[in-house]
Amino acid sequence: MILVTGGAGYIGSHTLVELLQADHEVVVLDNLSNSSEESLRRVMEITGRRLEFVKADLLDVDALEQVFNSYPIDSVIHFAGKKAVGESVAEPLLYYENNVCGTLNLLKAMRKHQVKRMVFSSSATVYGDPVSVPIQETAALQPTNPYGRTKLMIEQMLIDLKGSWENFSVAILRYFNPIGAHTSGRIGEDPAGIPNNLLPFVAQVAVGKREKLSVFGDDYATVDGTGVRDYIHVVDLAKGHLLALGKTGEENLLGIYNLGTGNGYSVLQIVHAFEEASDSKVPYEIVERRPGDIAVCYADSGRASKELGFAVEKGLTEMCQDTWRWQKNNPEGYGV
Ligand code: NAD
Ligand code: UDP
Repeated sequence: MILVTGGAGYIGSHTLVELLQADHEVVVLDNLSNSSEESLRRVMEITGRRLEFVKADLLDVDALEQVFNSYPIDSVIHFAGKKAVGESVAEPLLYYENNVCGTLNLLKAMRKHQVKRMVFSSSATVYGDPVSVPIQETAALQPTNPYGRTKLMIEQMLIDLKGSWENFSVAILRYFNPIGAHTSGRIGEDPAGIPNNLLPFVAQVAVGKREKLSVFGDDYATVDGTGVRDYIHVVDLAKGHLLALGKTGEENLLGIYNLGTGNGYSVLQIVHAFEEASDSKVPYEIVERRPGDIAVCYADSGRASKELGFAVEKGLTEMCQDTWRWQKNNPEGYGV
């Protein structure tokens, strides 16, 4: 049975669909601090399969112990964590406690119960401002904010744990920019409050919830001056987790993999693609650069492709169409 921490969240819920469709048995642990149990109901609706759910916090050692005692867990996919860069700057201790201490508790429970397989959600944020693109896994790791540093610290914990426990088998996945939603339009990204990320904001403008997009800077050295990122469909990303999990079962792995598409798109290219996919207007204005933003970031996913058989199937049009379907059908997210 697979323990999926943070499974009620955006990437977790999409990964659950793929896991259940592949006949895996799953128990989800989530404190619902940034998600809703409704996402889990919908995962079951989409797949016609059941999953177990435990509402608990990774900081609650007793609850964790109970989960490991109650279910025959043989591997863990670890999504649970806080992920807002700005909030991590304002509340660094909250981030170190939740992400680093939460993972420490999880690893101690895994070690105690001899659960040796793990897939961990890291982030391209660990690279900071890249020296060159496309970014390879061997690039310098220099995160520029506390959130990114929590991811780097966790990566280091995993590497050290592997050094002391030969049978531990871990895949560290560095995601680029996940967007899109399941094609059913039943699950998707449901940010609380004002979205920090580009796509949810664009989608809320298109649906009329927000007046216009603020484009953070148009004077970067890019195709049109706006920031370039590697957007990857969340379902392609979810499938990457199954490949990585499989790999942790084949060998005692310490694998670090970029998961991106290798293509970079600018903010304005995204806006135009979204307008086309949604047949709606996305008014925008150019404003100051966002502090801490980088100009260009995209992946070299060659290692994941070679070692995991990872391949993306969905392009930008599908990413925008699927985001739009989710947004249009669920203007209040899981709220209504
Ligand atoms: P999300 O917020 O939708 O999901 C995270 C889930 O973890 C939420 O359901 C939340 O309630 C839960 N959670 C948080 N702290 C917890 C705790 N202490 N105990 C139990 N549950 C807890 O985020 P997401 O976009 O699905 O991201 C999943 C993971 O991927 C995160 O670790 C994130 O840092 C990482 N990641 C996300 C992105 C992205 O752009 N979405 C990019 C790179 C990496
Ligand atoms: N962005 C923007 N307006 C927004 C949100 C984001 O112009 O309201 C830009 C941002 O400057 C970056 C790109 O969109 O160039 C992606 O930002 P996001 O926060 O989604 O991802 P990240 O910067 O963390 O890669």
